[in-house]
Amino acid sequence: MKKEEISRCMSLLAERGVRWTVQRYAVLEYLCEHRDHPTAEDIYRGLKERLPAISRATVYNTLELLKEHGLVKELVIEKERARYDFDTSEHVHLKCRVCGRVYDLGVPPPSVSAEAEGHRVEELVCYAVGVCRGCREEEGA
Ligand code: ZN
Ligand code: MN
Repeated sequence: MKKEEISRCMSLLAERGVRWTVQRYAVLEYLCEHRDHPTAEDIYRGLKERLPAISRATVYNTLELLKEHGLVKELVIEKERARYDFDTSEHVHLKCRVCGRVYDLGVPPPSVSAEAEGHRVEELVCYAVGVCRGCREEEGA
């Protein structure tokens, strides 16, 4: 499953003339394996040991590239840092205000008319904030 998903992404980029490097592949693979919405820094730290030559710039540039081609989604939930999601389907996220993790809620985002009130709606940015299941359990304990 994982391999298939990665090779689907790779062949799409190859068709579009994007050159593959070990480092680009590693970023894509990391995102495929870590579905907890890592930041660029998380990815960099996660790959540094295995790929000592990788730089933050390479990670950022690769994320931009993957984003441009619609292979990953950038989540703007925190002002100071973006998170990345290999799952590009429409789904709402929950940010836990206790542990700071970002979870999938498994529900579609609310729908808004493309011409609400005569405006042109181009994008709906929507996420939930609360306390995650794990943190609630600790609260209750
Ligand atoms: Zn939490
Ligand atoms: Mn997600």
